[in-house]
Amino acid sequence: MDIEPQFWIRVLLLDDTKSCTLTAPSPFVVLDAQTQTTEAYFDQSDSPANITISAGRIAISGRFFSGKQIIILPDRPHIFSLNGDDYRGKLKLVINPDSNSFDAINLVPLEPYLAGVIGAEMPNYWEPAALKAQAIAARTYCLYIKRHFGNKRTWDVRKTVANQVYLGVAAESAQIWDAVNQTHGQVLVCKQSGGTEKLFPAYYSSTCGGHTENSKNVFGDSFEPLVGVPCPYCKNVAKPSFFFWPMIQFDKSYVTGKLLQKYPKLKKLGKITNITVAKKSEYGKFSRLTKVKLSGSTGKSDFLRAEDFRLSIDPTGRKLRSTICQIIDMGDKWAFSSGRGYGHGVGMCQCGAQAMARGGKTSRQILFYYYPGSNIIRVY
Ligand SMILES: [Zn+2]
Repeated sequence: MDIEPQFWIRVLLLDDTKSCTLTAPSPFVVLDAQTQTTEAYFDQSDSPANITISAGRIAISGRFFSGKQIIILPDRPHIFSLNGDDYRGKLKLVINPDSNSFDAINLVPLEPYLAGVIGAEMPNYWEPAALKAQAIAARTYCLYIKRHFGNKRTWDVRKTVANQVYLGVAAESAQIWDAVNQTHGQVLVCKQSGGTEKLFPAYYSSTCGGHTENSKNVFGDSFEPLVGVPCPYCKNVAKPSFFFWPMIQFDKSYVTGKLLQKYPKLKKLGKITNITVAKKSEYGKFSRLTKVKLSGSTGKSDFLRAEDFRLSIDPTGRKLRSTICQIIDMGDKWAFSSGRGYGHGVGMCQCGAQAMARGGKTSRQILFYYYPGSNIIRVY
């Protein structure tokens, strides 16, 4: 808990909620976040405290607070339980502008945050070198996101795949803490013009399918370590039924509905009648779609990045697992066939990292392979 403020992460746990429950194994104080004054002290209690909002004020166990932002600070061991899930650090509650709901944000130092991420993103029985590579990549990614987006909002990252999956204390284990502690403060950087080094968003994904992808084609940002590399490794770790995914079909009306819901600009297309590949990255035996052209009943057309298209149709990404696939018109359905890989494919391939670690490679060798031209430095 004694780490500098710029290395604390603010994780959005609950978004626009009207009530939640809080339990802590220790007494906790409630602070007004703006004035930092202590507003109340709660004794340890085994029964959950209900947190609600009424007339624009937050109440904990029926006791109202006037601040628009309050911080709940549990005593040692600094653990609280929100809706039954345990987290380390502090809990901040921020009333939304509508005064009818609030956000719940976990304020947590980077290292325990990472312990809650690595165990959610990788099995804890994987090779120590893979877990350490994952810890450095995840540390880099969240610091980059915090510095580039955090100052515009009250939180830094979501606890979902939208950023990195964070499960709090439930994801922790001795192996995961070893990976975090042994890489304490280490992040990846790359050279920028002028010769200085800067953080970059060290994306990673489950199974690249044979070649990682240039970030420019997926997220629209350009960094030297994120141009994409061949990956002969993940095939050796991912199960065949996982590496090659089964054909999946969606009704055309479902696809139109999902796309128009997420991208209102596509309403000009009417009903989407045709999807063609506008751009792809060729990797010999397979290619990854990077841009699709959508044509509609009004005769108009538009383009989407293939990854945005994929996650609009299947937000979980569990069925339409990657954009290494072929799109087939089946009349009233579209089929996605010949699929391989799982995830966006940018940066470190997690299954590939595990295969390299099994082959005796170190975490540094794994990271320098998947993020070519990068370097590792310690920021604390
Ligand atoms: Zn791979």
